[in-house]
Amino acid sequence: MTTPEEPRVRCTQCDRKLETASVTIGYMESSFQVDLLRCPKCGQVFIPEDLALGKMAEVEKQLEDK
Ligand SMILES: [Zn+2]
Repeated sequence: MTTPEEPRVRCTQCDRKLETASVTIGYMESSFQVDLLRCPKCGQVFIPEDLALGKMAEVEKQLEDK
């Protein structure tokens, strides 16, 4: 049986439950702050694929519009 509070994501290296952390991401000359899941032990940040693709595309569009 699995516990009902099963965390959605775990660090594959440490097998630790990830914590939500506010992380500033720099991309080219821009930076933005997002809430991401981070491993409290090794500090590895996990970026969901949809966020990575969506945000990067968004930023790229903003830069192109300048
Ligand atoms: Zn870890």
